[in-house]
Amino acid sequence: MQRFATTTRDLAQDALTSLADGLTLVDDDARIALLNPRAEEMFDVRATDWLGAEIDDLYRALAKNSGGEFLAERFENYAARADTMPRFEFTLRVPSEKVIEAKWFALRGMEHGNAYGVLWRDVTRDKEVDAMKTQLLSTVSHELRTPLASIKGFATTLLRQDVRWDEATQREFLRIIEEESNRLEELIDNLLDMSQVEAGALRIQREPVQLRRLVREAVENAQRLTEAHWFVMDLASELPRVWADPRRVRQVLNNLLENAIKYAPNGGQVTVTCEVENEFVITSVADQGEGIPRELLERVFDRFFQVDGASTRKTGGSGLGLAIAKGIVEAHGGTIWAESAAGQGSVFRFSLPIVKESDLLQNQFNE
Ligand code: ADP
Repeated sequence: MQRFATTTRDLAQDALTSLADGLTLVDDDARIALLNPRAEEMFDVRATDWLGAEIDDLYRALAKNSGGEFLAERFENYAARADTMPRFEFTLRVPSEKVIEAKWFALRGMEHGNAYGVLWRDVTRDKEVDAMKTQLLSTVSHELRTPLASIKGFATTLLRQDVRWDEATQREFLRIIEEESNRLEELIDNLLDMSQVEAGALRIQREPVQLRRLVREAVENAQRLTEAHWFVMDLASELPRVWADPRRVRQVLNNLLENAIKYAPNGGQVTVTCEVENEFVITSVADQGEGIPRELLERVFDRFFQVDGASTRKTGGSGLGLAIAKGIVEAHGGTIWAESAAGQGSVFRFSLPIVKESDLLQNQFNE
């Protein structure tokens, strides 16, 4: 019996020590009886310095590190109502900025009188995720609304009873409606792809792929979109096949080529290169456009990120293209990155694995 009791106590002690949340226990005399390691770390204090100290002193120290004058008083008020389990969020600034949710609870049973505990949970990450969701919703609704408004406007105009539009005008309005519907469709496809990338559920169907052919096709398509740009292909003569999903690779190439056109509004040369490096083929798309500031080279792959911000831009786009391209390339075991010096154009490069003997065997096996 004695042994059992000791074991339970040890386990309880271990649980308090390993708790992912900070915990402070306060005894009947409002003195600190326990400050677990997580709380020490969170507040950058040592339990040995605080055991037996008055809890109000800790509240004051925390309030000071949070830049909130009245915070200590609030903490004391919550503590007085510990039996109603109040909770409260505050931003701690020292030792580092984090949002902490504090939860008070009365210690029941035995003879604890006014003893209570406080659980401190770091909710910084949850707050960031919340903010990201809000940002996502507002971007998506804004991006959907723009084409929708124009579809609705032109349809309403065409339907007006009091005006007769000549055939050419009607066709022009319908062309705009079609174009804007395509934009909507593309945005929705992108959102679906993005959600698959984020869920790690992007399906790719690999087969041996001749990059040379895909690159040629993509360049021909891109050339149709522009007269101000000319395309140069520099493909190694003996290009091995890559182990990839041709539809997805096409998607990446189209995105990079469209960007090369879009972000070089004055035209210029676009160079596409494929070269072998170890077990990969590296494809590069280089333009002579506006370039990307060095500190943003990685961020352009973040979803919804646009260098000049959505509000000031003249070109369309949702800021999802490169995030999806990254998801696709990484699902193939490759990497994608950008190089640029502002004003000197940008180079986007991605690698795809060369077909291995074992890939082919696996393919036969699956067929
Ligand atoms: P979108 O083109 O729809 O805005 P992307 O994800 O394709 O979205 O690109 C993200 C951002 O990266 C663009 O908004 C642009 O600011 C920048 N960017 C992409 N490609 C280039 C390029 N070739 N040259 C300069 N900036 C680029």
